Amino acid sequence: MKLARIGVTVVVLGLLSFAGYVAAAPRPVDQPPVASVTAALVAPAPWFRTERHEVSEGDTAGSILRAMGAPAAMLNAAGNGLDRLSIGDEILIDWREGEDQPFRLRLLHDPAFTFEIARTGDKYKSRQVPVPYVVEEMAAAVTVTSSLWEAATSVGFSPSQVINLAKIFEYDVDFNTELVEGAKFRLVLDRLTGDDGEQRVGDIRAAILDNGGKSFTAIRYRTSDGEVGWYAADGSARRKAFLRSPIEFSRVTSGFSSGRRHPILGTMRAHKGVDLAAPSGTPIRSVADGVVTQSGWAGGHGNHIELRHEGGYITGYSHLSSIGVKRGEKVRQGQLIGRVGSTGMSTGPHLHYEFMVNGVHKDPMKQIVPVTRPLPEAEKPAFLALRDEILPQLEGAKEITRDGNPGG
Ligand SMILES: [Zn+2]
Repeated sequence: MKLARIGVTVVVLGLLSFAGYVAAAPRPVDQPPVASVTAALVAPAPWFRTERHEVSEGDTAGSILRAMGAPAAMLNAAGNGLDRLSIGDEILIDWREGEDQPFRLRLLHDPAFTFEIARTGDKYKSRQVPVPYVVEEMAAAVTVTSSLWEAATSVGFSPSQVINLAKIFEYDVDFNTELVEGAKFRLVLDRLTGDDGEQRVGDIRAAILDNGGKSFTAIRYRTSDGEVGWYAADGSARRKAFLRSPIEFSRVTSGFSSGRRHPILGTMRAHKGVDLAAPSGTPIRSVADGVVTQSGWAGGHGNHIELRHEGGYITGYSHLSSIGVKRGEKVRQGQLIGRVGSTGMSTGPHLHYEFMVNGVHKDPMKQIVPVTRPLPEAEKPAFLALRDEILPQLEGAKEITRDGNPGG
């Protein structure tokens, strides 16, 4: 008990400094970069200035570098190092006083490596630089009061880490519509401290989500042949045949239109599905592996896709602005199949999502599709040992408040 208490104190102190890590707010690309002297924070005499850009939707390496005033030679030297930018990545460009070309670019994408393009003389060259850091395991609890984004970023999660957190539970909860106020995450995760003292959130090792009376436990486990997956406390795989929602959790998607009153007919009618409000163009993913049985215009449904899945399941997706699959095509779970729109009988952008079992419409949000793959017997002892070590940490995780103090 004593030991656990000390652990909690460390957690709270650590989270205090996470605030510094997320302080850089996303800046629209079309505005000129704002110069900031980060070196001054660690050394009294800055010898270069750093401009930062946080990658947001629609950015490309070219557009970011142009906006930051970097020369084309820098982009040319990138090779494929800037090909896979994620929302929330940071690009830092360093300038020396009196020079008209930056001497260095750093991409913060992977916590273990910095991708760097540096100038020697007139030439730019790129390389991967390992980031030395100390990993400490910690436990923390985060309560969602206004939004998952707000809650998770306030304790140091980057945008891509918030998405990853939601992904752990994407078989259980539709984070766009089903997360309730007061939902609580209890987490065991890595805290990374760099040479310069800068701290970041690393990987999540285990999580419990309490949401509106339902509780889900997820423990990350690496099998002896190196495969990493998420498992429930009893060792069953969390991955299920169906995703909870065809719309991935995102910052821009919010609200849930229960939509029982038909917006055009203006009357109550049997509503054979759910309406998921989302901006036009939002990606729609296949909730399960399957085959495309319909793809094209379908009257009031507008642009419409229907998929057939194993076990007598059919899912339908209506009012799309665009369709990305053809009839007869095989699709994988999570694959992009189209985009949200307002085609057919619809007054605003939303996805009408239908779920049929053996030809009968069902409420997709009430379906429980119990497909679990347990761990191989040989892996059980190691998994159970990890579980027994990590569950008490998870359950004892203390609430973090904005000022870094444990809450009541
Ligand atoms: Zn509908």
